[in-house]
Amino acid sequence: MTSNGPTIVVGSGLAGLTTTLELLSQNHHVILLEKTDKLGGNSAKASSGINGVPTKFQHNDDTVDAFKSDTIKSGKGLSNLELVDVLTLNSKNAIEWLTEELAIDLSSVAQLGGHSFARTHKGAGKLPPGFAIIQGITAKIDELQNATPAAVGILKNSRLERLVVEQQGEGKGLKVKGVEYKDTATGEVKVVLGDNVVLATGGFSADSQVLDKSLLHRFRPDLLKFPTSNGEQTTGDGQKIAERDVDADLIHMDQVQVHPTGFINPKDVACNWKFLCGEVMRGIGGILLSPQGNRFVNELTTRDVVTDHVLQVCEITAENEFGLPVGSFASVLVVSDEDAAKAPNHIGFYKFQGLLDKGTTKDLLQLLRKIHPSNANVSVQDLQLVIDEYNSAIAKGKDAKYGRTVFGQPITGEFYFGLTTPVLHFAMGGIKIDESARAINKKGQVIENLYAVGEVSGGLHGGNRLGGSSLLESVVFGKKASRSILGKSQTQQQQKPGHI
Ligand SMILES: Cc1cc2nc3c(=O)[nH]c(=O)nc-3n(C[C@H](O)[C@H](O)[C@H](O)COP(=O)(O)OP(=O)(O)OC[C@H]3O[C@@H](n4cnc5c(N)ncnc54)[C@H](O)[C@@H]3O)c2cc1C
Repeated sequence: MTSNGPTIVVGSGLAGLTTTLELLSQNHHVILLEKTDKLGGNSAKASSGINGVPTKFQHNDDTVDAFKSDTIKSGKGLSNLELVDVLTLNSKNAIEWLTEELAIDLSSVAQLGGHSFARTHKGAGKLPPGFAIIQGITAKIDELQNATPAAVGILKNSRLERLVVEQQGEGKGLKVKGVEYKDTATGEVKVVLGDNVVLATGGFSADSQVLDKSLLHRFRPDLLKFPTSNGEQTTGDGQKIAERDVDADLIHMDQVQVHPTGFINPKDVACNWKFLCGEVMRGIGGILLSPQGNRFVNELTTRDVVTDHVLQVCEITAENEFGLPVGSFASVLVVSDEDAAKAPNHIGFYKFQGLLDKGTTKDLLQLLRKIHPSNANVSVQDLQLVIDEYNSAIAKGKDAKYGRTVFGQPITGEFYFGLTTPVLHFAMGGIKIDESARAINKKGQVIENLYAVGEVSGGLHGGNRLGGSSLLESVVFGKKASRSILGKSQTQQQQKPGHI
């Protein structure tokens, strides 16, 4: 182990765990703080997968340039191009690290919205990709911890409260020296000092409860009406603490991704937390219908565009048997039986949770009548026409009305359907960083010893994140931060008197 002080990593999602493992595997001492009682954060819930280009699992002509261009287009001119370069150039390496060094299965590749090629990787088996990745990394950390117990301290129920700082020379800004955290089991407040602090505390898409302190309230009060797909721990702690304690610059904070499809649970319509209906459902061939039973969008365009169309076309305008509030939004996901076979684990899970039903056009019409009373005037034949029109677009390979270019199989006989609504899903904004994930303050200076990795950081995704790029960001920038820390620590070693 190097003789430098430890690095304190805060947050145990994919960003925090990647950083921890990378440092640990180079014998660097790490203290990992996690405010909940388990590791994994939202990363463990990720269901669509992780992007990578070019990989041996892709069987297409994808290139780094195509990935880069899709990312920039999706970001609507706001993305930091240097960060996009780092992300896309290192994506192949990220997939190889996960699959070859950590033996995580990511062999199945799908095409998500806004991507010009299939490049989102997940396993062929039952485990959701986020869970499989977190499991693979924690297993490796456990192995290293067993070999050298003193190398890593993993502190659960430990919530970051404050950064411990020191003023550097005049005009030089603050230097981070450690953290103050609360043991949420005992209420005790403790201080731990370290050479570096890596914030990996995630986004703020569930930060709606304590209004005067809520980042959503401050930056996007218009979004407070939407439910969320994020765990309740996702409250923007890192962004708030870094701004307060070291004047960190927060960038693109008004750019919050509203995912078009969170499942509405028929047994708990009003619940503020929704299971995400993974984009992979549309990727395998699923379509969306309005409450009136019409298609209304290319289901495979970027999330922001699909959401805009849902907001324009899918408002619930009348009291209904289903109990959906007037003024809320609902669209119906429809997946053919053949397409469902491409994602049996997702479909099985959603069905088990009561979020998807299987039935015929007649059953679908019954659901539509429950959410929109005027559908009493719609006949099964009317609804069948909508489905037939889509099936004929599949046959022609051309969707003249909405411009979809990638199709699944025709919707015939019995198929799957479920009700979805837009959900707050991802914060594109966060702490401004450089290419090594070093945090930047409002004067544009690097904040000495402070890193921000994963969703807590901002600037990479600009105005809209592509599906699969958040897990990737966590791995790529977790590695970048680690490398920067290891580089610094080597330099410090060399500068010690007597060091050869
Ligand atoms: C349902 C769902 C599905 C998704 N699917 C995909 C997908 O398929 N592909 C993809 O690329 N992205 C997906 N995303 C997005 C992606 O999962 C997250 O953006 C990404 O995992 C963020 O990783 P992270 O490590 O930065 O944060 P997180 O995984 O959210 O981890 C942050 C951790 O920090 C902890 N923490 C927070 N505050 C403190 C504090 N004060 N002190 C100590 N600990 C703290 C939290 O408890 C949490 O464990 C999905 C998101 C959701 C919600």
